[in-house]
Amino acid sequence: MPRRLSLALFALLGFSARLAGSACDPSLPCWPTESEISALTTALDPSADRSGLLRTNPVKGGSPYPAGIPIYSQNDQALYGYELDALKPLYTYNTTLEYDCFAQSTVLHPEDRDICFASTRNNGGQAPAFVAFPTTTEQVQASVNFAKKHDLCLSVLGTGHDFLDRHSNCEFGMLIRTSLLKEMTLSGDSNTVKLGSGLTFSEVQDFLAPSRYVASGWSVTVGILGWSIGGGHGPFGPSAGLGVDNIQEFEIVTADGNALTCNSESNSDLFWAVRGGGASTWGVITSLTLQTHSLPENGATLFQFYVDMDNYCDTDMFSKNMDTYMALLPTLDERWSGLTFFTVEALDDSAKCGLQYSIFSQYVFLGTEEEAQDVVDSMAAIRLQKILARKITTWNDDYVKMADPEYLLPTPWMRPSDTSVGGVPSVLIPREKSADVGQAIKNRFNECAANGLTQDGICGRYEIYHAVSGNAKEPFDADSVSITSSFRNALYHVVTGGGSHDTMDAVYELLGDNCYQNECAYEISEAAGGWKKRVYGEQYDDLLAIKKKYDPETVFWCRHCIGDEE
Ligand SMILES: Cc1cc2nc3c(=O)[nH]c(=O)nc-3n(C[C@H](O)[C@H](O)[C@H](O)COP(=O)(O)OP(=O)(O)OC[C@H]3O[C@@H](n4cnc5c(N)ncnc54)[C@H](O)[C@@H]3O)c2cc1C
Repeated sequence: MPRRLSLALFALLGFSARLAGSACDPSLPCWPTESEISALTTALDPSADRSGLLRTNPVKGGSPYPAGIPIYSQNDQALYGYELDALKPLYTYNTTLEYDCFAQSTVLHPEDRDICFASTRNNGGQAPAFVAFPTTTEQVQASVNFAKKHDLCLSVLGTGHDFLDRHSNCEFGMLIRTSLLKEMTLSGDSNTVKLGSGLTFSEVQDFLAPSRYVASGWSVTVGILGWSIGGGHGPFGPSAGLGVDNIQEFEIVTADGNALTCNSESNSDLFWAVRGGGASTWGVITSLTLQTHSLPENGATLFQFYVDMDNYCDTDMFSKNMDTYMALLPTLDERWSGLTFFTVEALDDSAKCGLQYSIFSQYVFLGTEEEAQDVVDSMAAIRLQKILARKITTWNDDYVKMADPEYLLPTPWMRPSDTSVGGVPSVLIPREKSADVGQAIKNRFNECAANGLTQDGICGRYEIYHAVSGNAKEPFDADSVSITSSFRNALYHVVTGGGSHDTMDAVYELLGDNCYQNECAYEISEAAGGWKKRVYGEQYDDLLAIKKKYDPETVFWCRHCIGDEE
C-alpha cells in the first residue's frame, strides 16, 4: 500500500502515522510550519537567476548561465517535459493523496505537477515533500540544516539521468537538486578544472575546447557528478581512466551542515569513499575538480562498423565470427575505447530461421586511420564493415556530433515486472572471460531463435562497453578509489536487455558477480548475491563505516546505496 494512503488510513483509525524507519511527516509536530517554509524560501534567495538554458560560456564572453536541464537535449527538452521559464527556489507537495508521481502521471493534480516533474521519477515512487534548487553552497547548507531541524530525510539529484531511482527512497523528505551549481574554473596550468556539480559533460567539453577535454561518457546530456562518482566509462576509459580516477578533489556539504573539502590529504577517507561508493548517501557534493586531457598531436579517429543481416540461418558463420570478434577485442590496446550493440529480434518466419539481428560498433581511437588499418581489416573479415572513419581534432566538436541531440524520455521500460528485473542489468567482465561473453551472446541468439516469440524478455539486446580501464597501459591505482576489484580489473562492462530473475541469474552465473552501480539491475535477487554484494562487493563494510562516521543519523537516503536497509 502506498505510504501516503497508509498514513491516511492510520490517521483515520487513530494510530500514530509515524512508521518505522521514516523521519517526520505532516501529521507530526516536527513538520515545518508555513513560516518556516517561507524562511527557507528566503534563504534560497528567490531573486537569484533560475531561468533559461546554458547557451553562452562566461569565460568566452557570455553571461553566466543557470540551466535547469541538460543542454543538447532535443529541442532543449527538459527531463519529463518540465517547462522551465524559471525554476522556483523551493517546490512543496501540496496534497497528501496516495498516487505516485509518475506511476499515474496522467492523473497528476495540477498543484502537484511541478514538484513531480522537479523530482524526476523513473520508476514511480512517491514524490518528496520539498524540492530545493540552491544556487550557492550556503543555500545548500540552509537546505540541509532545514531538513535536519525538521527530521526530514535528504536525497540529492543533478540532471535526473539516474536509471535506478536511487534518489527516490526518501518519503516525506527533501530532494536537493544541484542542477544550478555551474561554476567552471580552469587551473593556471590547464591540467585540472573545478566544476560545479550541476554541470553536464557537454557544457564542460564546450568550456575546455579546443585544446583540452575531460574523460566522460558517450552521451552529451549526462551530468558530471553521477557519472564520475559512480565509476564512469566512456571514450577515454582505457587511456585516461574511469570517472573516479579523474577526480582530484571535491567539496561536499555533509549531514552536519558543514562544507568540507576532500582530497588525498583532507578528509581522505570520505575522498576514497565517494569515488566509487557513489550517489547521494554521503552529502551534497557542490563541486568536483577533474583532471583534463589533450588529444595526441595527430588527432584521433572515430570509427563505426555495422552488420545488418535479415536472418539467422547461417548459425555456424555467426558463431565463428563471434569467436573471432571476442578474440580480437582483448588485443586492442589502451588507445581504443568503444562499444558494440547486438540487437536481436524474434521472427515468426521459419524461412528466416526465427531471428534477425544487427551489430553496431563504435570506437574512438587515439591515433590516425592509417595506424588503425590492421584492426579495420580484422573487423571487415568478420563482416563488420567500416561505415565511418572521422578524424577528430577537437574532442568537443565530435562529442556533440557523435551523440546527436538526445531525446530525454522517462524510462518506464526500466520498471521491474514479473518478466523483467528492470533497470540496466550489467556484468563487469575481466579479460580472461572474453570468450564467455561471446558464448552468452550466442546463447541469447539461440534461445531467441528457438523461443523468442513465446518467452518475454528472452530476445533482449546485448551491449559490450569495451570502455573501462582493464587494458590500461599503466594500471590505475586500485586502492585509491572504492570501486570493486571486479570493476578495476574489468575489460568489459556488458549490459543485457534484461529478463526475469531466472534469466538474469543464469547470465550472472556465466559472466560474473558484480555490476556497474550506475547501470545495474533495478532488482537483484538473493541468488545473485543481493544488491550490497553485486554493486559494492568487498568494499561494502568499509564504505558503511565511513557512512556512519559522516552521517551517523542517516540523514542522507539513497536506494541501494551505502547505508540503505541498515
Ligand atoms: C542517456 C544516458 C547515457 C548514459 N551514458 C553513459 C556512459 O556512456 N557511460 C557511463 O558510465 N554511464 C552512462 N550513463 C549512466 C550515467 O552514468 C548515470 O545515469 C549517472 O548516474 C548520471 O549522472 P547524473 O549526474 O547525470 O545523474 P543524476 O540522476 O543527477 O544523479 C545520479 C546519482 O548521483 C547522485 N547525485 C547527483 N548529484 C549529486 C550531488 N551533487 N551530490 C551527491 N549526489 C549526487 C544522485 O543521488 C543520483 O543517485 C548514461 C545514462 C543516460 C541516461
